[in-house]
Amino acid sequence: MTWLELADDTPFGLHNLPYGVFSVGGAPERRVGVPVGDQVLDLTAAAAGTAAPFAPLLTAGVLNPLLAAGAATWREVRESVTEWLTETRYADQLRPHLVPLAEVTTHLAFEVSDYVDFYSSEQHALNAGRIFRPDATELPPNWKHLPIGYHGRAGTVVASGTPVVRPHGQRKPRNADAPSFGPSQRLDIEAEVGFVVGTPSTVGTPVSTADFADHVFGVCLVNDWSARDIQAWEYQPLGPFLGKSFATSVSPWIVPLAALDHARVDGPRQDPEPFEYLRTTGKWGLDLALEIRLNGHLVSSPPFATQYWTAPQQLAHMTVNGASLRTGDLFASGTVTGPERDQRGSFLELSWGGQEPLELPGGVTRTFLEDGDEVVISATAPGPDGTRIGFGEVRGTVVAG
Ligand code: CA
Repeated sequence: MTWLELADDTPFGLHNLPYGVFSVGGAPERRVGVPVGDQVLDLTAAAAGTAAPFAPLLTAGVLNPLLAAGAATWREVRESVTEWLTETRYADQLRPHLVPLAEVTTHLAFEVSDYVDFYSSEQHALNAGRIFRPDATELPPNWKHLPIGYHGRAGTVVASGTPVVRPHGQRKPRNADAPSFGPSQRLDIEAEVGFVVGTPSTVGTPVSTADFADHVFGVCLVNDWSARDIQAWEYQPLGPFLGKSFATSVSPWIVPLAALDHARVDGPRQDPEPFEYLRTTGKWGLDLALEIRLNGHLVSSPPFATQYWTAPQQLAHMTVNGASLRTGDLFASGTVTGPERDQRGSFLELSWGGQEPLELPGGVTRTFLEDGDEVVISATAPGPDGTRIGFGEVRGTVVAG
């Protein structure tokens, strides 16, 4: 029950309650908010007004103080918000703190500390291998032993809606004699799922898979913009660099792990059996249904449940050498690609390296992105009683560089 008027099929129902940061109109003040139905609860104001003990964690204009407060506080805040929106006695007090969702501007929800990007979809790794290295037919020899990743650039993680400037760089087409320099001609996306770290860890002490929910606050959507021509020329032997670091967009609302109980599924069977530090108990696959739209047209529906390596395994792997976690760390899943053609999470794969242009309505075709193209990645997950948990969307438009 709730005193709010909520549509049965709202993606922001009472079982979701994600967190973000917003402003209203031209006001510079940034506030922590929780979308519910077609409104946003101004949590900064609501917590202050009810003299909630956690109110001081919500005044920084970013989620970081709340992230740092730890799992017990995350539970306390979620229980309070649920109570406020459920019990009629709070209605008069809270109604002034509800803002129409359509009137808010969302911002980057947290200050990003370190950013790590994985490569954990088996189908994506197979496709990318076949496209980048036509002679390769198998996964890299380490792929099924460890979740491959790299350290990305935290300072260019940007809010949804931030224009993406086409990067310049060096590229060398396969048949060219020498490299050339200029704007990327193969600008692409990668549809990914991001995990936001709250509780830090101590340098020298690995974080076990069992401690995942003590450290990870929640989940968002990530678009890892990628310049394939720059990437192809630079990536050996040290991995992605300037082909990735120009922009990584994240969705505004961070869905807490507690909202995803009904989305948890068994991950794929892992063979060979991973090392002890990568083993998990319980269900840690997540049944998120992603959708990718180019200029409003649905072009792909990647299923996150098909990912080979799960988020607790990624967290354990990135700390197994003693590297510590910081509040605000973001780690992303890697491109989410399913087995079907319309489940591919990048245009590299959708157009098979540019050889098979994608046909869009109106006789339009695409291989890679053109200036003015807008890409929107959205996702939902199963909630209780047949409901869906909405992640909202991460949006970006390419502008000329
Ligand atoms: Ca990526």
